Amino acid sequence: MFLTISTTGSAARPATDLGYLLHKHPGKAQVFATSYGDAHVFYPEAGEERCTAALLLEVDPPALVRRGRGKGRGGAPDAALAQYVNDRPYAASSLLAVALRTVFASALRGECRTLPERAAAPLPLRVEVPALPARGGPALVARLFEPLGWQVAAEPVPLDDHFPEWGDSRYVRLVLEGELRLSDALRHLYVLLPVLDDAKHYWVSAEEVDKLLRFGDGWLAGHPEQQLISRRYLARRRSLTREADERLELVRLADADDVEVEEIDNAVEPEQPDGSQERPAPLAVQRREAILAGLRAAGATRVLDLGCGQGQLLAALLKEPRFTEIVGVDVSVRALEMAARRLHLDRMGERQSSRLTLLQGSLAYTDKRLKGYDAAVLSEVVEHLDPPRLPALEYAVFGAARPRTVIVTTPNVEYNVRWETLPAGHRRHADHRFEWTRREFRDWARAVADRYGYAVEFQPVGPDDPEVGPPTQLALFTGGTGGTGGTGGTGTTTDTGTDTGTHEKKKEDAA
Ligand code: SAH
Repeated sequence: MFLTISTTGSAARPATDLGYLLHKHPGKAQVFATSYGDAHVFYPEAGEERCTAALLLEVDPPALVRRGRGKGRGGAPDAALAQYVNDRPYAASSLLAVALRTVFASALRGECRTLPERAAAPLPLRVEVPALPARGGPALVARLFEPLGWQVAAEPVPLDDHFPEWGDSRYVRLVLEGELRLSDALRHLYVLLPVLDDAKHYWVSAEEVDKLLRFGDGWLAGHPEQQLISRRYLARRRSLTREADERLELVRLADADDVEVEEIDNAVEPEQPDGSQERPAPLAVQRREAILAGLRAAGATRVLDLGCGQGQLLAALLKEPRFTEIVGVDVSVRALEMAARRLHLDRMGERQSSRLTLLQGSLAYTDKRLKGYDAAVLSEVVEHLDPPRLPALEYAVFGAARPRTVIVTTPNVEYNVRWETLPAGHRRHADHRFEWTRREFRDWARAVADRYGYAVEFQPVGPDDPEVGPPTQLALFTGGTGGTGGTGGTGTTTDTGTDTGTHEKKKEDAA
């Protein structure tokens, strides 16, 4: 099993820096004992302009068998033989990945005390694996590596050079080229070599999920083939795959707030329906104002901001003394950290900080900490959940936490045609799982209100276009018990009659 990693350089940045980054001296050939045999590291070339490190794993088949890696193949004599006579010693595979981890542990973590800035920056890299078992062939190889920024050449290796009519083997000769950080490159290989091999020779334990997430950090959650990667990496163990998918889903959510939602909504200035030159307040500001007005009118003092993101609403709530207890909840630790920074939580006086709590949690699970509040806000949050998970959120918020008042805002998809720079059919944010029409939102909100014994009314936020409605739609739910009562009762639905152009509340009894 053989793999090379090359880079190029110049006098100012010699290619031989690769030796520092890999923590392996280019002038030496070294041997490391791994669980499956000896791993040799050496440099076929080591110059200022080009430097190549090679990893050769000399698999020790008896070691493979001793470690029980041939298990699961049954006890038939030829199966026993297959444990010794197989492609393992020649083909790159999961064993090579294990060797990578053993031999290049620090480089995988991106650690380099001598040249930290080189480790942190992309390098021109070329990785070659002459014999890579690839279930799914060159096409899958490309689908796995290309989204990560690699240029991929994967040539099928013929079964026999002398008999082209025999066709191709299941091996490819893989060449990857790209400008990547070395640690990223190694982490891609660590995960994807076994995925392509698809024949793990070790027992997949629950810890493998942790490994997958650790080595997949920063690239796996957003990978278009994430599910295939998880499934194969975890040797198709269903419970593990499900766990990985769920945890990666949380990572995706956390990553989604890399982009500020309000920046997106406001990046595309709506055309003023009345043609006026005056610029309206940004939509995010109008949304916050509408929410604050709703909370004031409800007389709420103890408020939950569910899916608080980076804390813009929390900041506004803190400015008003009437809000005595403010709780921000988000699934994303990163968002909460940014909220804490934005609010200067570390420098906040005790009086202020005693009013504010930040909690990490998923709204798809009931949470005792959320019971007993006056009001909860879900501002631009529901559309970030996959539709099958919405009922869990509905139950957690309206059924279990049961704040007296709930304010939900979400985009009105009908309005998207008015954002000139939003290409047709596109959602406003890459992480939006759906965007509702006014009708869909109302149907959803009324059904939730009925189910959990709330009344609901609707308000437009932003310019209320006569044809397509407002950019943001808001639902105000009232009648919760603050977490003390049951969930019975029928809801009353009210409407603000946006189609008549007036926003005054036009109560209609649903009963
Ligand atoms: N409320 C803020 C942020 C909206 S972005 C605003 O109006 O600007 C959506 C936020 O919901 C993100 O911060 C995301 O991390 C959070 N979120 C998405 N799904 C969640 C879930 N299941 N549980 C908790 N928070 C969630």
